[in-house]
Amino acid sequence: MEARQRASQPWEGIWMNYVVLDLEWNQANGITEHEVPAIPFEIIEIGAVKLYTVPCGQPADGGSSAGDGKSGSGGGPVKGRDTEKDRRVGSGAFLIERAGEFNQLIRPSVYHEMNQATGRLIHLRMKELKKGRPFPETAEAFFAWCGEEDYRFCSWGSADLTELQRNMEYYHMEPLADGPLAYLDVQKLFSIAYEDGKSRKSLEYAVDFLELEKDIPFHRAFADAHYTAKILARILAEKPAALRNLSYDVFHPPKDRKSELKVQFDNYAKYISREFDTREEALADREVASSKCYLCRRNLRKKIRWFSPGGKHYVCLAYCEKHGYLKGKIRIRKSPAGKVYVVKTTKLISDEDAEALKARREHASDVHRKRVQRKSRGTKERP
Ligand SMILES: [Zn+2]
Repeated sequence: MEARQRASQPWEGIWMNYVVLDLEWNQANGITEHEVPAIPFEIIEIGAVKLYTVPCGQPADGGSSAGDGKSGSGGGPVKGRDTEKDRRVGSGAFLIERAGEFNQLIRPSVYHEMNQATGRLIHLRMKELKKGRPFPETAEAFFAWCGEEDYRFCSWGSADLTELQRNMEYYHMEPLADGPLAYLDVQKLFSIAYEDGKSRKSLEYAVDFLELEKDIPFHRAFADAHYTAKILARILAEKPAALRNLSYDVFHPPKDRKSELKVQFDNYAKYISREFDTREEALADREVASSKCYLCRRNLRKKIRWFSPGGKHYVCLAYCEKHGYLKGKIRIRKSPAGKVYVVKTTKLISDEDAEALKARREHASDVHRKRVQRKSRGTKERP
């Protein structure tokens, strides 16, 4: 499975198969049960919808949805949504076929009391959960349902694949990937397609915005996967280019230098490093510190070396003779193993933005200089 997921590149076809998943999880209530650090969020429900894209005039393989009944024992079939209108949203060249559903409650084995907030939000009681199937069994059934064909995971927001992989690791299951896992964050895609690309709206907001029918209640895994799939289908039909914006779940950072991730998107490039023991070691690495033009691949001299404007991340400014100013941005992330890895983005910026960055650098060094002066004065005045 990892080979399929990892081979995915943003410029590859967006006409493919999608597994839209949504998870519900429970956590320690902090009073009678304490957090188990290896599994702070225990998954209690998996819901998913499969979407196939098919060329116009060709029905999708009818056999693909045969597994539905088998895996749907947790919640049972949900009525009222399986209309032709829902299953097929198209824009001439292709159709989007709803090709299967997965819906399963999971019997908890870590937290046996429902966290108050979780219970309120998803209206699930422990009594119902006890009727579910254990996590390892459910996850196996889920991946079997996903099938052998190429597909891409999709979720609303960025948390689900991390928690899925963390739960799998807790039960010593075979990992889903051996490095960053490509997926589509539909919440992000909605923002790119219909808003400013930065906002993150609620699922219900997006459903209202797109005037999609609200046929089942929100906040259960299957329902949220169902709505996320509807939104994805709409984006596919109306703004397919938005789907080039892949996200990566870095529950497993790249193992070594050779497997580090370098991808180019329409207007920026992304690099995800291997793990380092410390932040300093990461920043001293040549590949991490380098600034390349992602259009002509040349190594560039920096106009401004890496500096940290607010303490949270680092930026640099480089100049390509052919393509102009490039801004680099480094975020240092903590890996689940307690080490660090680097996410670096590089993008072309306008001359005005480059000037603004220079001014910010000046300001940052002014502040630093004053702080140093104040400190040294303070030392002298001490008796
Ligand atoms: Zn260039």
